[in-house]
Amino acid sequence: MRVQFLLPFVCVMLLGGCSGPSRQAPASLPSEPSTLKSVSPVAPPPGNLADFQAKAAQYHAIITLPPFETTSNAIAASAKATIHDADAALDKIGRLTPQEVTFQNTAVALDDAQWLISETENRFEIIKETSPDAALRDTATERLKALQEWAVGLDYREDVYRALKAFADTRPKLEGEDAKLLFETMRDYRRAGLDLPKEDRDEVEALRKKLSDMTTDFETHITDAQQKLNFTKNELEGVSADFLEQKGVKNDDGTFTVRPNITWHYLTVEENCKREDTRLKVQTARDNLARGENVPLLQQILVTRDDLAHKLGYKTWADYQIEVRMAKTATNAQSFLGRLKTGLQPKFDAELAEFRALKVKETGDANTQIHLWDWRYYANQLKKEKYTIDEEQLKIYFPYERVLDGMFAIYQRIFGLKFYRMEPPYKWVSDLQLYGVTDAQTGEPLGLFYLDMFPREGKYNHFAQFDIIEGKLLDNGDYQRPTVALICNFPAPAPGKPSLLEHEDVTTLFHEFGHAMHSILTRAKYSRFSGTSVPRDFVEAPSQMLENWTWDKRVLDSFAADYRDPSKKIPADILDKLKEAKLAIEGTYYRRQLSFGVVDLALHTQIHASNADDTVPLSNELEGEVFLPEPPDTAFVAYFGHLMEYDAGYYGYAWADSIAADMATVFEKAPDGYFDVSAGRRLRKEIYEVGDSRDIEESIEKFLGRKQSIEPFLKKLGINAEAQGTK
Ligand SMILES: [Zn+2]
Repeated sequence: MRVQFLLPFVCVMLLGGCSGPSRQAPASLPSEPSTLKSVSPVAPPPGNLADFQAKAAQYHAIITLPPFETTSNAIAASAKATIHDADAALDKIGRLTPQEVTFQNTAVALDDAQWLISETENRFEIIKETSPDAALRDTATERLKALQEWAVGLDYREDVYRALKAFADTRPKLEGEDAKLLFETMRDYRRAGLDLPKEDRDEVEALRKKLSDMTTDFETHITDAQQKLNFTKNELEGVSADFLEQKGVKNDDGTFTVRPNITWHYLTVEENCKREDTRLKVQTARDNLARGENVPLLQQILVTRDDLAHKLGYKTWADYQIEVRMAKTATNAQSFLGRLKTGLQPKFDAELAEFRALKVKETGDANTQIHLWDWRYYANQLKKEKYTIDEEQLKIYFPYERVLDGMFAIYQRIFGLKFYRMEPPYKWVSDLQLYGVTDAQTGEPLGLFYLDMFPREGKYNHFAQFDIIEGKLLDNGDYQRPTVALICNFPAPAPGKPSLLEHEDVTTLFHEFGHAMHSILTRAKYSRFSGTSVPRDFVEAPSQMLENWTWDKRVLDSFAADYRDPSKKIPADILDKLKEAKLAIEGTYYRRQLSFGVVDLALHTQIHASNADDTVPLSNELEGEVFLPEPPDTAFVAYFGHLMEYDAGYYGYAWADSIAADMATVFEKAPDGYFDVSAGRRLRKEIYEVGDSRDIEESIEKFLGRKQSIEPFLKKLGINAEAQGTK
């Protein structure tokens, strides 16, 4: 099996703002049989899209097919029209006198304008990532960039700010989602420096511009960084012939070139090469990539961020960034990481001891230690020795269609939904699928989702859910229901051979489709709060929770079966082995994750103009303390791209994992486990429908029926929290 050692990426693509409350009482829950007897197929289509839209109208809901542009001219025209319409809407707000301002014509009108812009941006994003036509992709990319740059300037429209402020100054008595909308809109302005005296505000704007340029440069240096190392065959002992025969690896003179900047080169050597000196060389080279350019640049970026935070009234950049997230302060995020570090210590020690035992056996050196350049190799050895799992053998249980239908059956059941396949009037690729979602009990149409599931030239190459049309209450009282797309890269079917998924692919599908549910089931009034527009340290949690489903024998048995003989289910011992293999290195995996979170927060709380030279020593010291010491004379932070886009946010991965484990207990303790209808409806009502329209902590507690706890997460990692005193 493959275990993910790479840095995770954020897989829900967000362009717009974020959060909202439930406006509708949930339907009472029908009682359902306690086991899924068989995979129930997707319900028959209710005719076509037009019928679906007509049905929606009965519920004052609008179902919209995105008007995808199919020519470069059409893209340019849409960009122009969007700028024109948004400018007109903003001009209208900007012209209001203090006597004229209302909640509707300021805060709501601004949310409307932002929604309008995001619709076009989202559509361009889809074209950019999926169009089979390279020229169209290029135009969409170019126009999207121009649109986004233009949209940044909207924060600084003083006329609009003055109208919003005039309304806020009336101290209106607003409640719930309305109050949150006004509060957060004004908070955004404050965070952009709009409430500062002109001179200071100009300085803030200039610093932001400078930061934006510097972070772009930092990322460009990472992309451009290259390094080549030459090795003999002997020095690469243990690395597969497949790799050594690769074009660009094998040289005419019989040597081999490894490029530490190519992640799979780096991983292949670190996981497989028997020679410690080779692993060390590759690790050292990797941790020095972009060092010359990026160390001084990073120092400048950190100092500028620190400066900017002070100008905006924050103690540190981390406090500024985290203010709008669940953790709220840098101290909260740091103390979370601290507790997790302590909790993981015994498991991490035990795993390192196991790696060390393997190294002692292999090297004959009783005093040998596990270093940063060793752990991947011995983790891989451990996997091979103790948990032999043949991925190929497992794939026969996961034919794509069966997995998709199985997942649909589970999600329809627990969330009380029906999915209807319909023919998309426009397809950007021939195998594109479109589905409508309705409430199973009332028949109310809730939204649409596209599936674009197989790889092709020029297509987005990860797995993600993309919002296209975000949910929002319209002026006339109708509700604009969402349209989303899943853009994935599962193995394509071949003639006579179905697409067979790896277990990891199945987990990814359950995860990504969870984001689609989060988007589609929204009832938030404002697009700022609807769907997945929740704080970034929470957005992955519900989907991470749903990953548990694919490790449950009962869930898997409801759909997974040998495609040649569906009476054959996955043998229990294979699944157990898979779980053991995952658990065997989780202490190491998370301590490494934590080390990055700790470094990220330390740099964004402790580095100032007076000590910028400490950037590299501080990072290396903390990395060594929380994970394993860096090779001598290296500067891994120069190549740590997350410090740009995800600054003071890396802690969020573990933070969301911890909430996910906590939330999973609701299903685990429910009578019907991962099939439990009442737990599923609670997730729909308290998390998905609400979005960010109320404080996310409140939503989580309503779903849990209690306060949050870190214990289920530690328990999942095989740690007894009470014994560790980490409660
Ligand atoms: Zn995700």
